[in-house]
Amino acid sequence: MATRGMLIVLSGPSGVGKGTVRKAMFRDNKKRDFVYSVSMTTRKPRPGEVDGVDYYFRSEQEFKHEIATDGMLEYAQYVDHYYGTPLKYVNQTLDSGKDVFLEIEVNGAMQVREKCPDGVFIFLTPPDLSSLKERIKGRGSEDSQTINKRMVKAVEEIKMMQQYDYAVVNDRVFLAVKRIENIIESEHLRVKRV
Ligand code: 5GP
Repeated sequence: MATRGMLIVLSGPSGVGKGTVRKAMFRDNKKRDFVYSVSMTTRKPRPGEVDGVDYYFRSEQEFKHEIATDGMLEYAQYVDHYYGTPLKYVNQTLDSGKDVFLEIEVNGAMQVREKCPDGVFIFLTPPDLSSLKERIKGRGSEDSQTINKRMVKAVEEIKMMQQYDYAVVNDRVFLAVKRIENIIESEHLRVKRV
């Protein structure tokens, strides 16, 4: 049987660029033996987002059915919608020996921490709060009320950084990717686990 893969959790405030960093990692690392776990959400797709690639876009009823049937590794209500990680895919992939990469918000990450303490938990931080607000605004897909809700949430989330194994500043995407790759490589070489 293959050695079980490693669970890598990338988290951080909305707008910090988790999605951009994750996409860059998968674009530049085709040979890597790790896969991205596509999340499920009840929010509507943004322009260009594809069902089954960016998210599984589902109704609230369908999402709640997954929760009720223990189909989720973790889930959270974020701003006005549900987001969660389908459990089956994660387990099957880890069992096959591949690493699984989750990109999720902090409450979900803390649930994963409880269930999978062997995972590697990485917190992506913005260089400062003003750059975070500019990023959220720059996306242009949210109204000002939603932007403000996301900023309030982001400040709360940044306080959670201490709960993670690593903090990575997203000043430049390629640098953040490099730092995360270095972490993953080191974790694979790790002998001692505390
Ligand atoms: P967005 O609506 O901007 O795509 O995502 C909003 C937030 O939900 C982001 O912080 C994103 O990382 C987080 N998120 C995406 N998928 C999941 C998931 O499966 N579980 C949890 N807990 N958060 C998620």
